[in-house]
Parts: sequence; C-alpha cells; structure tokens
Amino acid sequence: MNTRGPALMTLEEALQRVLDAATPLGRSEWVPLLQADGRVLAQDVVSELQVPPNDNSAMDGYAVRAAEVVEGQSATVSQRIAAGHAASPLLPGTCARIFTGAPMPAGADAVVMQEDVEALDGQVRWLKAATPGTHVRRAGEDVTLGAVVLRAGDRLTPAGVGLAASLGVAQLCVAQRPRVALLTTGDELVMPGTVAPRDMAPGHIYNSNRFVLSSLLQRLGCEVSDLGNVPDSRDATVSALRDAAERHDLILSSGGVSVGEEDHVKPAVQALGSLDLWQVAMKPGKPFALGRVHAEAGAPACHFIGLPGNPVSSWATLLLLVRPFVRRLQGASTDLGLPTPLALPAHFDWPRADKRREFLRVRRNAQGGLDVFPNQSSGVLTSAFWADGLVDNPAGTTIAHGQTVHYLPLADWGV
Ligand code: AMP
Ligand code: MG
Repeated sequence: MNTRGPALMTLEEALQRVLDAATPLGRSEWVPLLQADGRVLAQDVVSELQVPPNDNSAMDGYAVRAAEVVEGQSATVSQRIAAGHAASPLLPGTCARIFTGAPMPAGADAVVMQEDVEALDGQVRWLKAATPGTHVRRAGEDVTLGAVVLRAGDRLTPAGVGLAASLGVAQLCVAQRPRVALLTTGDELVMPGTVAPRDMAPGHIYNSNRFVLSSLLQRLGCEVSDLGNVPDSRDATVSALRDAAERHDLILSSGGVSVGEEDHVKPAVQALGSLDLWQVAMKPGKPFALGRVHAEAGAPACHFIGLPGNPVSSWATLLLLVRPFVRRLQGASTDLGLPTPLALPAHFDWPRADKRREFLRVRRNAQGGLDVFPNQSSGVLTSAFWADGLVDNPAGTTIAHGQTVHYLPLADWGV
C-alpha cells in the first residue's frame, strides 16, 4: 500500500464524514405555495381546521337514512344539495339529491349512488338496500384539527404543497437555498459556444461538468453562482476560492483533486483553510476532497468540496455524497443516504470483479431485468444519460446473467 497517498475509505465512512461536516444553515424564508415545491420546510405546519371540514358526499346520488332504504320502495326527494351549498336537515322518510363534495344533511348517514336508484318525478325507487357510512367522506378523515401535517425537515412535493393549501396555508417557511459557487478546473476545457467543434485546438475538450453539476445543484434547491473555469495554476485557484468564500456556503469544484503535478486544488484550499483528500473505495469517483476556505484570516469558513474531473465520476459523487451534504445544509430529515435498492435480475454478465465497490450504469428492460451500458468508463457521459439506475455492486464481486443485484433508481435521486 502506498502510505503517502490519501487513505482509502468506504463510501459509508465518507458519507458519515460528509454529514458530520454539514451543519444546517438555519436560515429560513417565507415563500408562496407556488414556489415551495422541492424546498425543505423550516417549520412544522399545524392544521387550524379539520379536512374535510364537514361530512360530505363521495358520489353523485342521494343522501339517506340507511335504515329507511328498502329495496323496491320509493322515497320523495326533499332537497337538492350541490357542492358549495348548505344543506337543511333531512326530513324523515325522504332523501336528498346530493352531488360529490356537497355537505351531508343532518340526519343522513349514507349516500346511495345514482346508479342504484330509479329516478321518477320528484321521487326515487331504491334498487338496493343501503349501509350506514357508505359513500360518505367523514369530517376530519384526511386531517384532524391541530394535527402536525408537515414537519420541519420534510422536502416539499406537489402533494405536500397541495396539502398545505388544503389547510388554508398560503405561504410556507422553508430553508433558504444554500449558496453554492461552482467552478471547474482544467486548461483543456473550452466552453461550448465559444469555439466551434471544427476549430477545437488539439487536446482541448468541451467543459461538460459545468452543465451537469450546475443542473444537479439546481435540482437540489441550491442557488448556484457559476464561476466558470479556473486555469490549472495555483494562483488562479487561490484567487477564485478566496473570492467565492465570502459570499457562499459551499464552493464546489470539479477536477484537479488527484495528486498529480497539475492538480492545484489541494494546495490552494490548504493555503486558505483546510482540506481532507480522500480516496473513496468506489467506482466511478475515487478522489474526493472536503474542506473549508476562509476569504481572509478570521473570516467565517465556507465549505469546500472537490469532485473528480471525470464527468461520470463527478456526476456520481454529486449524487452519492454532495446531495446528502446539501440536504443537511437545508436541514432536511430525508434524502441523507442512498436510495433504497430494488432486487432485480441482471440480464448481463459482469465477469471482471473490481477491487472497489462499483456503481454500474444500467437500464431496466421490458422483461423486468437490467441491461448494462457496455462502456463503463468514468469519462463516458453517454452511460449516465442512457442509464435509469445504478447497480450497487460490492467490491470483488462478479455478476452472472440472471443473478439478483441491487438496483438504485436514478428517479429516487430526482435525476
Ligand atoms: P482531473 O481530475 O482534473 O485530472 O480530470 C480528470 C479527467 O476529467 C480529465 O480527462 C479531464 O480532461 C476531464 N475533465 C475534467 N474536468 C472536466 C470538465 N469540466 N468537463 C469535461 N471533462 C473534464
Ligand atoms: Mg485537471
């Protein structure tokens, strides 16, 4: 083992250290409901009413006293109750025409579906008997008065936003978006749009990480400052970091975190703060750096995370390690680890065991199994776009066709 190199650590250990380093920012703001999807709640939402507020009909039909409904007998329709309108108490021996969502009249205990009656002029004839409680939505069956409906730390979804609306809430107190400065490193990188493909100089490639990482961070609810690309020089890296440290909660960089001569991130971060460089025992994505940067001595620290440069490695490490970090900054109580794996059959052979735990880019097929992308190189971004999930393959493990493997759906990461 190379004793001078950074220590190899498991993904679990890296995840734990990442979470330990991320203290919730504790800054919140009120946002209107239409802007709340995807945000993390900073305060519990307590219901000031019950939902639904009254017993109401789940069907178009007739509100009745169930005991009075006898197959073959008729009853008078004594009132008509549409949704949004008040009901009078139900006169004994009669029924009320009622529509979905309309309040139940006092005295009624069931709704007979309109399909189960023969409607005559102002009268109905029952085709079946009725049971109390049928087709009635009970007051408070969704939410009881005083219930904690949404909790601080919950990530809001469309259903969560709707639930808040159903309580009469118009604004939600959510965690402020973490301010993340994104920079890429590498003299070989060219921004798309600045040089046409045919004019690219030898050795130059387009900067793809900037777009992958910025998109991912935005999906994670971050406010992203794009610092563009930083040349491979220590001075340029130091000055970019110093500048970013003042106004951000996290600086995220890609590339330059190996221990080669052209890897300037480590010394630059160390000059302004501290850095741990890890070799995470996973593939793709081995090098990973976590540290802190101060704009000047005594200034508050800004978190720093350095991702590997290879496009699939930076994509994977963002999902596996940065996402939990950012969620924790937001005070989230969920999404702090890996998605729950599904057991699915591999419809491929993976004959070469790797020393490291692998995250293979795979896709579900119509037969309910998994196909693997043939080129699993960490530079092949096509594999990440093609895939709908990752197989979490333990270190030293081969996979035979038909064997059950652990599949992590990318949809569970929201990508
Ligand atoms: P590095 O970690 O800087 O040694 O980069 C590893 C590999 O990823 C090299 O082949 C780089 O050219 C490539 N790479 C680094 N940054 C980017 C980027 N922003 N977009 C595309 N490829 C990159
Ligand atoms: Mg580089």
